[in-house]
Amino acid sequence: MEKREKLYEGKAKIIYSTDDPDLIIQYFKDDATAFNALKKGTIESKGIMNNKISEVLFKHLEKNGIPTHFVERLDDREMVNKKLDIILVEVVARNIVAGSLAKRLGKEEGEVLPMPIVEYYYKDDALGDPMINMDHIRALNLATDEEMDKIRGYALKVNDLLRKFFDDRGIDLVDYKLEFGRHNGEILLGDEICPDTCRLWDKATHEKMDKDRFRQDLGKIEEAYAEVCRRVCEE
Ligand code: UDP
Repeated sequence: MEKREKLYEGKAKIIYSTDDPDLIIQYFKDDATAFNALKKGTIESKGIMNNKISEVLFKHLEKNGIPTHFVERLDDREMVNKKLDIILVEVVARNIVAGSLAKRLGKEEGEVLPMPIVEYYYKDDALGDPMINMDHIRALNLATDEEMDKIRGYALKVNDLLRKFFDDRGIDLVDYKLEFGRHNGEILLGDEICPDTCRLWDKATHEKMDKDRFRQDLGKIEEAYAEVCRRVCEE
């Protein structure tokens, strides 16, 4: 698999075209941003850990009936993915109150929700990814109702699978963000799934093991990512 040209450089990743028009290479950087890129930094070896964690999680989901863009991990920082026409809706699923939900509803972080909550955000950095609902999605023609039904179903199934997966490893899956895209008429789960995009709390100590350590300057960021990587990647 040969890298051709850089198609896109984001905050944490670079996307390259390959000699196969159906496939791209995703390169994981150590750069981290928060608060819509107002806060910037690097987390040493983050790219290597997120690449490995995403590989394990995509394989687990794929094995359990979720179609994903994952093809193979190439090396430390690169994975091969099916090329997606990304749907501009970020899907957030939540099991425990944290982050923007705590603020929006005036609730304490840590309250366990009686059922998972699925939310949609418009993927637009210039607007700061505003929250939207199905009417906005229709009016902006971001996806069809049929596509969104499928996406919501996948998001809830991913939630069941990942909650159990992390629970078995002593971790509470608090919330996370998913992105989906179209590939040859199919909806596939894309992007990455890692401590940059999930909130993960140690079940025993309730310590944060995710990007909130960077957002909130809690220290021991590399250590937390390494511990997630160790627990996720061990057989
Ligand atoms: N999230 C993400 N990218 C975004 C926004 C949110 O990966 O652009 C993830 C975030 O890490 C958390 C979940 O989605 O696991 C819910 O985030 P929230 O809405 O609470 O926003 P935040 O507090 O992160 O601004």
